[in-house]
Order: sequence, then C-alpha cells, then structure tokens
Amino acid sequence: MISLLLMMLAAGAAADSVDRGISESLARERAAALSGVRYDLAFTIPADRQQPVEGTVRLRAILPNPRRIVIDFSAPKARIHSVRIGDASVSPVFVEDHLIIPAEATRAGENSIAIEFTAGDEALNRNDDFLYTLFVPARAHLTFPCFDQPDLKARYSLSLDVPAGWQTVANAPESARTEDAGRLRVRFAETKPLPTYLFGFVAGRFSVERATRNGREFRMFHRETDAAKVARNRDALFDLHAAALKWLEDYTAIPYPFEKLDFILIPSFQFGGMEHAGAILYNAASLMLDETATQNQLLNRASTISHETSHMWFGDLVTMQWFNDVWMKEVFANFMAEKIVNPSFPNVNHELRFFLANYPDAYSIDRTAGTNPIRQPLANLDDAGQLYGAIIYEKAPTVMRQLEMILGEQRFRDGLREYLKKYAYGNATWLDLIRILDAKTPENLAAWSRAWVEERGRPEFTVTLQRSKTNTIQRLTLTMRDPQGRTLVWPQRMRVSLGYSGAQKDLAVYANASRTVVKEAAGLPMPLFVLPGGGGLGYGLFLIDQQSATYLLANMAQIRDPLTRGAAWVTLWDNVLEGRVDAGALIDAALVALSAESDEQNTQRILGYVSNAYWRLLSQDQRLARAPALEAALRAGLGRAGTTSLKSAWFSAFRDDVLTPDGVAWLERVWRRDERIPGLTFAETDEIAMATELAVREVPNLQQILQMQLDRTENPDRKARFAFVMPALSADPQVRGQAFERFRSLDNRRREPWVLESMSYLNHPLREADSERFIRPSLELLTEIQRTGDIFFPGRWMDAALSGHRSPRAAAIVRDFLAQELEYPQRLRWTVLSSADGMFRAAALSAR
Ligand SMILES: [Zn+2]
Repeated sequence: MISLLLMMLAAGAAADSVDRGISESLARERAAALSGVRYDLAFTIPADRQQPVEGTVRLRAILPNPRRIVIDFSAPKARIHSVRIGDASVSPVFVEDHLIIPAEATRAGENSIAIEFTAGDEALNRNDDFLYTLFVPARAHLTFPCFDQPDLKARYSLSLDVPAGWQTVANAPESARTEDAGRLRVRFAETKPLPTYLFGFVAGRFSVERATRNGREFRMFHRETDAAKVARNRDALFDLHAAALKWLEDYTAIPYPFEKLDFILIPSFQFGGMEHAGAILYNAASLMLDETATQNQLLNRASTISHETSHMWFGDLVTMQWFNDVWMKEVFANFMAEKIVNPSFPNVNHELRFFLANYPDAYSIDRTAGTNPIRQPLANLDDAGQLYGAIIYEKAPTVMRQLEMILGEQRFRDGLREYLKKYAYGNATWLDLIRILDAKTPENLAAWSRAWVEERGRPEFTVTLQRSKTNTIQRLTLTMRDPQGRTLVWPQRMRVSLGYSGAQKDLAVYANASRTVVKEAAGLPMPLFVLPGGGGLGYGLFLIDQQSATYLLANMAQIRDPLTRGAAWVTLWDNVLEGRVDAGALIDAALVALSAESDEQNTQRILGYVSNAYWRLLSQDQRLARAPALEAALRAGLGRAGTTSLKSAWFSAFRDDVLTPDGVAWLERVWRRDERIPGLTFAETDEIAMATELAVREVPNLQQILQMQLDRTENPDRKARFAFVMPALSADPQVRGQAFERFRSLDNRRREPWVLESMSYLNHPLREADSERFIRPSLELLTEIQRTGDIFFPGRWMDAALSGHRSPRAAAIVRDFLAQELEYPQRLRWTVLSSADGMFRAAALSAR
C-alpha cells in the first residue's frame, strides 16, 4: 500500500502532463479507462452575436478505479467558471486544451462532473440570426468540455435557450419547450451513442418544410427567400432522402438507426454536407437548384444526399476508431451513393458517371508530388483535417470497386452487413473489415490493400505492340511501372480497348505484375488505337503512343461507346500534362468533337478540359489568337443544345472563357437583360456569376455593374457574400491588395466559401502578373489557416491562391518557399505540392 502511494506521488508530475490537442496516446488512455459516457448539455444563445454563448455540462463516465480524468476544452482557464463532482467543488489542473480532474477527486464507478463554462465561438459558425455547430474532426472541445475522440461514443441530452422566434434542431427529437420573456427553451431527447464529431445543433431564423414519405416524417430547414425556388425543389429533396433511406435499409438489412431525419440547408456552408446523425447539414446552393441546373448539378445533388444518408450507417452507426480510418466512412458513403443514385436517373450512363466522377479528381492529386496514401498514420487529431481530399473521396471508391470485383457483389454486401451488425453503435478499424472480407475470398486482401491503401501514388502504364509477319498482333504487353521507384505493383482488373474503323474490341486483363501479356490480343488485326484505360476501369497514368494520340484527336466522333470516349479524353488530358500531346491541338480537337458529342457528361468534361487548357496552358497572346474560334464554337453549341441543362453547360463555359470585345459585350447585354437566350431563365446566382466575370475582365463600367448587381440581389445571404467579394473584383490594384490583406485576420476568414471566391478572383489568370505579390503571403498564412480553418480549407486556399498562375516566376516563388522552410510540416508540404502541380507543369511547358 505504501509503495503504491509512493509510486503515485512520484508519478505526480507525469499525471499533469498531456499533449496539446488530442493525441493518439491520450485517446488510447481514455478509451481503455472510460465507459458509459453521457453529456447533459445546456447552451444559452444571446440574440447579439457579439455576446458569448454560455453553457453547462454534466459529464458522466464510469471508471474501473480512481484515476485522473483528462477533459478536452480549449483555453480552459479563462472560460471555465466552476467544476463540481457531486456536491464538492474541484480544482482541476488547467493545461492548454485540457482540464485534468485529479485522481483523488474521482472514484470507481460512475463519476458525475458538472462544469459551467463560456463556449468558444470557433466551431459555432455564428451569424446575425443563425448559428450551426461543425465539430468534425475534433472541434467540439472548442465549444464545450468533452472527450473529443471518435471512440468514446456518448449519449447527449441537450437543452437550448434561444431568442423567441428562432428554430432549433439537433440530433434527437424535441421533447419539451417553453417560451417566456422573449426566450425559447427547447429540450431534446437523449441521443443514441454518438462520437463528438457527429453531435450538433442548429438554431436561428429558418423556414421549415415538412413531408411524409414511406410513413416517416422528414423536415427541411432553409433560409431561401425565393418561394418559387423552394416550391420547385422541395419534393425532389424529400424524395431523394426517402429513396436513399429505403435503399440503404434494404442493402444493409438494418433499419434506419436513428429516431428521425431532418436536414438543414446552410447558406455558404463550408462543405457539401455534414452527416450529423439525424440532422444533416448541406450547402444550400447545391440542393436548392435554379432552373438553369445542369445534368451534372442534378446528379451531384442526388449523390450528395445519398452520400450523407449513407453515413447514417457508414460512419454514424459504425464509426472509425481513430481518424486515420476516416477514409472508410467517406469511401462507403461515396460508393453507396453511386449505387443509390442510379435508379433515379435511368437515362444516365452510370459507368461513365462513376468514371468521370472519380478518376479525374483522384488523378488531380495522385499525379502530383504532394499526393498521399488513402490510409495515413495520425498522431494527433489537430492534424486530422490534413487527411481529407480527393484521395479519400475519389480514389478510394475506385479501389473499393476493385475490392467488390474481387469478392463479387453479393459476398461484398454480406461482408458489409456482418461488419455493420457486429460493430453497431460502436467503432471499428479498416483491419476489422478486412478480416471479415478476407474470410470470404482466397485472394490475399492484406497484400492487395498494401499497395492501394497504405502507399501513395499511381502506376504508370505503357503498351508495347509487336506486329507479326501477317500484319496481326503478335504480342501486346502492358508494362506497369512505379514512378516513385519503390517497385510497387498495383494489382487490378483492367479493360484494354483496341480501336478499328467502325468497331472496337475490349479485352479483360488482370494486371498483377510489372509486365502483363494480353493473351487474347494475339492474332487480332493491328488496331488504329490502343487504350489501356478502356472501360473506365484501369487506374493509372496511361502513356499514350503517338499513333493512338493522333488517331483519337482526329477521330473521336467515330468511337461509338461514350465510356470509351470519356476514357480517351481523360487519357489525352493526362498526356497533355505530361507534355506528350499539345494543349492547342487538344483544344482544336475538342471543339470539333464537341459538335458531335452525344453524352452530356462527356460534353461537360470536354468543356472543362478546354477551359483548363485555355487558361492554364496558353499564354494570353495564344488565348487571344484562339478566342474568336473558341467563342464561336461555344455560341454554336449553346444554339444547338436541346435541353436547358446542356444550354446551361455551354453558356457557363462561354461566360467563363469569353475574351473578345464582341463576346464580352454580348455577355453584358445578357446580364443587363437586354438580350434573352431562348430556353434559359437566369436566376440570381446566374446573374451574380455573370457580373463577377464581367468585372474581372475590367469592362469600362465595372463598378456600376457591381453596384447594380448588389442592388439587384434580394436574398440577404447572397447579398452579404457578394458585398464581401466585391473588393476582390476592383480594377484598382490597391483595393485588391486590401482585399487580400483582410485575410490575415481570422475574423475575416470565418466564412470560408466567401474567402475562396475572393481569392480565385484576386488570382484570376487575367490578373496573373499583378497577383504574384499574393503568392508568398498566401503560403505564409497556410499554417495558421490549417490551425484555425475547417478541414477542406487549407487545400482549397492553396488551390485558389495558385489557380491563376503559370509563369516560371510564380513557380519559383513556391519552390523557394519550400526550400527555405525546412521544418515545414510534411502534410502541409504535400498540400502545397498538390496545389502547385498545375502551375509547375504549365511553367515547365511554357519554357519548352
Ligand atoms: Zn462524407
């Protein structure tokens, strides 16, 4: 007994030591010791957003024996007003990001700790008449004292005290309300077990729409002021949620795991959506669509809703143990979304959709020196935001499809059912899932997972064709190379397309070695082109041979299969960036091919490549030389398009690419409503986009246009955003300089979409020379942005900062910065290298 006491005294110093943020070791310590966690939370939200939000929490947890309890809370000393255990007041130890309840104040069994505190505003997203919480990945402890890690799931009982007239919504249903003296008090039922990052609430002035589908009531909270727009969208939004829910109940064989489902449309939300259990948040603009919505916008909306609804099972019901596996919930949400959306769009080519929605975005990171593995180690949740990006959202679904092909659809589904059932309302790791799936196949999934999941980058493929004496294929060999020199092999099922005049032959190949001979090719006639990425299946950089490139550029319209055309364009674009296909040649070929393209998804993709090549890879002189032909082709496409969606795609391309005085004057007449485009009815958001594009082109009366657009804008949320962005559009370099300087202050960076839009105009290619002065300060701000911003902000900030640059000078600024900052965190270095990739390539190509 004595020796134990001495040991405890000796350990006294260590008992107060804890890392900043939430380290993996702290998380393991707590997960091993704590159970039965419950929060009884109350927040008082004042009408004036300058006044602090006050809160109380009664935190309960079961301990096996007395021991210290480390509670996460940012800046605790200044913001904790009292701490009590039972009736006794306790003096905790305050360290950065934590308060520590000493062991002697605790006991075996349930401990109930009551804390009064002032909430931090960082994760509350406070606006004048609404606020919403966003705690992912570990930002709950900026708002209230908690155990901010995903595997200490807890039940929450929440009360909110808000100004009368406000709406409130949280994870669980409302259980009681009272109203007096201008205040509304709402109590919510206790939730199912949830991690802190899925706990959330919204309060403020919202309109509420209700609908019943399949016997279940759904509610939609929104701030849209255009009644016709709401009426046009509401049924589709309820239908999409109901269809997704039904599909998931069937697929998982598990009924919807939470009590109710509400969704809240947030203006200028920083993500596409956030899957708070029972209360999903969305970016209003991507759900409430205008009449000018394109097919891609409609598909993306359905995918976003299906993605967030899938999370109710994948992520919310079963949660990753630690954020290193955050990709699992994202890949399943995206992978399920692809399956769910299909039946709602019977006229869409869904294989093409899967290919175009995933591969190009995955390549945009995986081709860069800053790419990352799907699964990454994570020592501290402070760095969890760095895990998010195209690799987990877009590469991982292609990897998951390969896994499904290995197992077969049914065994794959059965494995997922087993996994969800076994870990329901709990946590699991990737290895827990692989163990379940591995038992269902003779293939070694652990080895397969290593190359695809644990390592970064993509393979590089070349094709060798040997011709026989009779002019047929003697041998077709696929060579897979690891461009990073690790001699990795990425085992994958592929389809090699061979093109002939008016015909095409697709050969199934399993490439699982550095050299694979495609046996079925032997004896076939020599093809006009070879496309190893045919069928949109293979993943990698497919270096194209000269004959295939020339044929495809000249004859794309001859290829009948839309998926082969889509795969060909993606391959050609990769080869443009490799310097093997000329950017101007691609634009010329695209304008011809576009006039014959019958699939809208391909049309949008090709228009995107044209725009990218035009702004990114051509000099202003080269652009001006091509502008008349480009604009004529875009206007012709607009005239030819048979649907509103297609017209909208062509018009947007014209609006964003136009350069000639005649073209700009026409755009201005459309914006002024002096000219109408048959079949297109523009909404407020469309006119805002036109006004900003006119302004960045420095039309003579741009200040008047901006002012008029501001006056025209009726919706208060869109008006505030436009007013914020306006200085970034000024013709005066000094005003633009001030517009940039604002972002040094955190207060001016809180509405991230506003900041990003401003940054993209400040750094527009037409402002390239002037905005070089912003590059270095943007790099210098990145570490602070990573610390204070939400998960996608650092990458998007850097993308916007470099999006308009292509000069060797700009590239040198970034290279010099990275060379000087030797201590720069590895993941942020990757962020910079990914964002800079397009600029580096453009600079290298322009120097040739
Ligand atoms: Zn997600």
